[in-house]
Amino acid sequence: MIVAERKPLGEIAEMIAPYEKVCVIGCRSCVAICLAGGEKEVNMLVSAMGLLNRRTGRTQNLDGLVLERQCEKEWVKEVEDRILESDVILSMSCSLGAQTIGDMYPEKIVVPGLNTAIFGVPEEQGVWSEKCLGCGDCIIHTTGGICPIARCAKSMLNGPCGGSSDGHCEVNLELDCAWYAIHERLKLQGRLELMDMVRPPKEWNTSHSGGRRVIVREEARLTSHQKRATEESQ
Ligand code: SF4
Ligand code: SF4
Repeated sequence: MIVAERKPLGEIAEMIAPYEKVCVIGCRSCVAICLAGGEKEVNMLVSAMGLLNRRTGRTQNLDGLVLERQCEKEWVKEVEDRILESDVILSMSCSLGAQTIGDMYPEKIVVPGLNTAIFGVPEEQGVWSEKCLGCGDCIIHTTGGICPIARCAKSMLNGPCGGSSDGHCEVNLELDCAWYAIHERLKLQGRLELMDMVRPPKEWNTSHSGGRRVIVREEARLTSHQKRATEESQ
């Protein structure tokens, strides 16, 4: 899931300060699960901003709502009226939701209430850890199911580096060394020979380094005829 964190209240207040009508839009998906931008967090932010405004004697109309998925146009369209009547949109989703609204209503100002951070998994209550960087060419079948790109501080394809110590990473001793973890996993699986495998340099053009990526599934695309028929039926 995408894990995000709310920006500090002061930063949010500064971004929306010039506007009277603020539409605060959350998302019930990843950012709700990571407790950053779901219904509860939107309500809390609206209350906090209201309190801040009362203290400073400012009048600002804060309209809070939550979409099923802010990155899908169909859900955004359902609240079009509220978007159009606001001066600014404060997006409490990951930046995909914020950019979806921005692309659909380019004349509207959209500001991010959250910092989009990682592709992470929940490890325990309130803890998420990064496990993938979306490189576009997965190799974890050779590393015991552990991603060396996201979990090794140096993204080493062949490790460990010389700094691994007692299973910890030299870059941050509080973190596990990914390559120590890979070794332990491969040992458990009886596949230690994979530690000797030399993984060649990666083709990074499948990652973001190759420019913006777009994934197309032709079989799922609507033909222009189907698109017209759908538009006409609406
Ligand atoms: S190898 Fe690439 S796709 Fe696979 S988990 Fe790591 S970053 Fe993600
Ligand atoms: S100590 Fe381990 S995780 Fe840290 S940089 Fe070296 S190989 Fe990577």
